[in-house]
Amino acid sequence: MAHSETPRAPAAPDGTPPPDTGSGEAAATAGTLRPQPPRASRPRRPTTLARQATWRLAGVALLCIAVMSVGGYAYVFEAGRAQALDRLRDFLTQQWLIETTLFRNARANAETFKAEFLEMYGNTQDIPVTDADFDTWFHRGPQGALRTHRRHFTGTVDGAGLPHAGLSGFVSSVEGEPSADLKRRLVLALRLLSRFGPAWDRDFVNTAVSTPEHTLVNYWPEVPWGLQARADLQTASGSVIRATFPEENPERADVWTGLYHDHTAGIWMVTYQMPVDLDGRHLINIGHDVPLDALMARLDTETLPGASRFVVDPGRDQLVAWSEPSGLLDEEGGVQEIADVGDADLSRRYDLLSIAHVGASDPSLWLVEDERGAAWLGATELAGPGWWYVVVYPKAVVTGAAHRAASMVLVFGGVLALILALGVAFVMHRRVGAPLSALTRAAEAVAAGRHAEVAAGALSLPETARNEIGLLACTVRDMAGQVARQEAILDREIAIRTRELEIANRRLQAQTTTDPLTGIGNRRALDADLAAAQGRRQGDGPVALILCDIDHFKIYNDTHGHAEGDEVLRKVAQRMRDTVRPTDSVYRYGGEEIAVLLREGTDGARGVVARLISEVAALGIPHPGGGPHAVVTISAGLAWERPPALDPHDLIERADRNLYAAKASGRNCWIAEESP
Ligand code: GH3
Ligand code: MG
Ligand code: MG
Repeated sequence: MAHSETPRAPAAPDGTPPPDTGSGEAAATAGTLRPQPPRASRPRRPTTLARQATWRLAGVALLCIAVMSVGGYAYVFEAGRAQALDRLRDFLTQQWLIETTLFRNARANAETFKAEFLEMYGNTQDIPVTDADFDTWFHRGPQGALRTHRRHFTGTVDGAGLPHAGLSGFVSSVEGEPSADLKRRLVLALRLLSRFGPAWDRDFVNTAVSTPEHTLVNYWPEVPWGLQARADLQTASGSVIRATFPEENPERADVWTGLYHDHTAGIWMVTYQMPVDLDGRHLINIGHDVPLDALMARLDTETLPGASRFVVDPGRDQLVAWSEPSGLLDEEGGVQEIADVGDADLSRRYDLLSIAHVGASDPSLWLVEDERGAAWLGATELAGPGWWYVVVYPKAVVTGAAHRAASMVLVFGGVLALILALGVAFVMHRRVGAPLSALTRAAEAVAAGRHAEVAAGALSLPETARNEIGLLACTVRDMAGQVARQEAILDREIAIRTRELEIANRRLQAQTTTDPLTGIGNRRALDADLAAAQGRRQGDGPVALILCDIDHFKIYNDTHGHAEGDEVLRKVAQRMRDTVRPTDSVYRYGGEEIAVLLREGTDGARGVVARLISEVAALGIPHPGGGPHAVVTISAGLAWERPPALDPHDLIERADRNLYAAKASGRNCWIAEESP
């Protein structure tokens, strides 16, 4: 066994090094027996679990709401965009139906008229038109023009007994006498106008029939146009009628004028003409003046929220109508070139639409994005004049809704998160925070050694909670009880061990002051008792020291051996101890020398010495010396001292001197100092 090695804490069974004993050593130095475990480090600024959870939850909730808001914005914007474009498309389709009704009706009327006219015109047999017939309608006026009789305008009854009115007609003075055919066409046209005109009057300004000659008849109850026209007016030279001539219109297409303000009627309108041919011969043109005030008025009434509208004539690059600067067209007194309006947005949008129209899958309704103007543009081509009805739909209508939706998500989400956080804070505090505080207090009590208090239920614990906290609380309570029980066991164990240690210590103490051979005190005990006697105060009695030595012991040993000698030594010592009083002490001073210290009552010291000598001799142990030394004897020297002047060394020396003196004077005797 290597005693020089520093004792070490045993390694853990898993091989990990033993815990740092630094603090344990420090504790041991400070006098604590049990090594203290290292103290757990605590958070610097502790907060509550409930607060932590609430903040975390609030943070996560706010993040979710932010993401939801952004997502909501994107979703609503995208959905709104699709919806807005659908709405725009629907609106345009609807507008197309509304705004082209008149134009389509104009065409349908013309078709009806044409069919009737051609049938009557071709039926010369049954429907003859004589000069007399012509004259019931026309008469030559003073300026040379043929005009209808005023009664046809104001109201009259025809040959068949049918009433008519609102009709007027005119053959320019430059025409000369009309041919029979022209007369036939004019009369037939007037007859049909008297029939159809009133029916179509509600929707159209008038119904007119012109011919390639300089003539025109019409139904127009408000205006007796045929009676008022200049006598030499060359109607067929005007651009509108010329556009119906085969040389200018080989496809025989319908002719639409641009928008114009009719000063006679005081309204905005467009004129429609359908050329009617028979066997390649251009007979007449049937048409209406189509009023557009209603269309204009509708542009000003808002039907698609936030949108503005305009109508352009792409054939002439003209602005026909515009919902924005109301009255613009009236001020100008006529249509305007788009480039002349001086509105950059309008020009750009017209350009965008023109480009998109070329590649549009459906050229009658197409959409295009105006990025710079932050709007969607939708256009529909109005059947008839071929105008573009354009709707400008600002993106703000959609972005506004998306903003509102996102804000709603943000606000509602925020409120929800707040309620949730408060709810969680409340529940966490009740269900977690408060029980944990109770558990912490209990744990601190256990750490402070008050586990008995915890075990006994002096501190309330959330043991009734039906969750992990409840289980933990029960465990803490059990643990405190266990610790209390273990401590009691440990205390008992310590008391037993302490008692055993005391006994062992005492035994050890006795062993260190006892001579093993003889059982009496040893030299160390003598020294200690003499040192203690030095502390005696004046007034205490004197101390006496008797130093004895076996006579001729060498001879005995030499004769009987050391083992026998030891036995003699033991017997002599025991007898000497039995001879003195219990208050006197006997020591083996060294070899076969035995000292006796008398601390209480030295009066009888001389008697004690004498008795010791006689008692040893009385043992009757035969000595090989023979003669007066036939038995084992001792010699003794006595010295004493009165406190406080006590010098152990001097006292021993004096006793030893007396012992030598006794040896010298024959042995088996004693010499004493004078009593102090
Ligand atoms: P005296 O004292 O009478 O002058 O003669 P002595 O023979 O006794 O002489 P001394 O005291 O000088 O001798 C000591 C002897 O005591 C020597 C030794 O043989 C013996 N002795 C000392 N200690 C022991 C011991 O522990 N056991 C035994 N058996 N003998 C011892
Ligand atoms: Mg001796
Ligand atoms: Mg001797």
